[in-house]
Amino acid sequence: MSPPIVRLETHMAKGKKIYEGKAKTLYEGPEPGTIVQYFKDDATAFNAVKKDVIDGKGALNNRFSEHFMLGLESIGIPTHFIKRLNMREQLVKRVEIIPLEVIVRNVVAGSMSKRLGIEEGTVLSRPIVEFSYKEDSLGDPLVAEEHILALEWATQRELDDIIAMALRVNDYLSGIMYGVGIKLIDFKIEIGRLTTDDYQQLVIADEISPDSCRLWDIKTNEKLDKDVFRRDLGSLTDAYSEVARRLGLLPKNTAQTAPKLVK
Ligand code: UDP
Repeated sequence: MSPPIVRLETHMAKGKKIYEGKAKTLYEGPEPGTIVQYFKDDATAFNAVKKDVIDGKGALNNRFSEHFMLGLESIGIPTHFIKRLNMREQLVKRVEIIPLEVIVRNVVAGSMSKRLGIEEGTVLSRPIVEFSYKEDSLGDPLVAEEHILALEWATQRELDDIIAMALRVNDYLSGIMYGVGIKLIDFKIEIGRLTTDDYQQLVIADEISPDSCRLWDIKTNEKLDKDVFRRDLGSLTDAYSEVARRLGLLPKNTAQTAPKLVK
């Protein structure tokens, strides 16, 4: 008798569900201080007013996040990432999430374009780091450093570290993307406090994927990120797969096409 086919996911010793978010579910991990992040196929936009299930998105984002977190670790930027477990799950360190969305912008787009009436695509003379208070019921409002300090969401020292980390992530991600013909317009990261017996450290947490970045093709300005879903611009899976292929995370399209003459 041939052995039963069991999906890899079912082997994972996940514990109790800790939290269910819009795109991910968190479970207790196998060891104390660990969490299993499960990437769902759900896509939401405009604070979950627009929703859909997009086949394969979770698996792609799991892979993207692994790739970027490992890359950041390799240049000395600490992250919560431990290892990918299977197609949809990764093991991460349990951290205390600072309730801020840390946004870095290189080019004006999205909410900044609307708020200030500046055309999308306007290149900034230097990157901007901005903060939103992570609270869905308020629509994640923009806050100033003064709010963060006065409300004691982070200390001055932490804030200085967060800004320095965010700008390093920007340099790293911009470089990786530029190398595969993509402009990094903006992105969002979340930061966690990792506490061990001896020290406390800030680490990059949550995920880094085209769900939380704006990515435009360098030549055509085609959007290759979640705006494809937000603005109904086509297939989100196609856009994410294109980014994954360029980064070497998916096999190249092997379809034979006739050679084209280049002038
Ligand atoms: N972003 C995100 N989660 C949020 C809000 C923003 O990942 O809850 C990302 C978004 O994908 C973009 C960047 O942060 O890459 C800046 O987003 P923006 O403030 O322009 O907001 P949006 O126009 O997406 O509402």
